Amino acid sequence: MATQTYTGSCHCGNVRFEADLDLATGGGKCNCSICRKTRNWSASLKPEAFRLLGDEDAVVDYQFGTGSVHWPFCRTCGVRPYAHGDIPEAGGKFYSVQLACLDDVPAQVLADMPVRYSNGRDNDWWHEPGAAEKRFL
Ligand SMILES: [Zn+2]
Repeated sequence: MATQTYTGSCHCGNVRFEADLDLATGGGKCNCSICRKTRNWSASLKPEAFRLLGDEDAVVDYQFGTGSVHWPFCRTCGVRPYAHGDIPEAGGKFYSVQLACLDDVPAQVLADMPVRYSNGRDNDWWHEPGAAEKRFL
């Protein structure tokens, strides 16, 4: 597969975006404090590959810890369709999109995507969490 432009949205549709993604490169799941509770399954992309459509005020920003990542959520329905931040150790500025929020991807394509697991809980991003944890992320 190659890079294509996909559209995504929150549940109510007030937050919409376009993202240029190569879904064959897979997505990430992580056991850090926020990824675990939001069941984050996402793909990262460079800022220029992400375009927020519509009104920026549709989201409420959320940050925690060092504040290096923004986790906006829809003011109306609470869904978090994307995140963005700046982590120099991981390549600088980035966006990430919730793969489950993409509106135009066939189920088989999502099911076939490779999943990379990160042990974010222990700040050990380049290793996987244990087998049991991986199963429920
Ligand atoms: Zn919404």
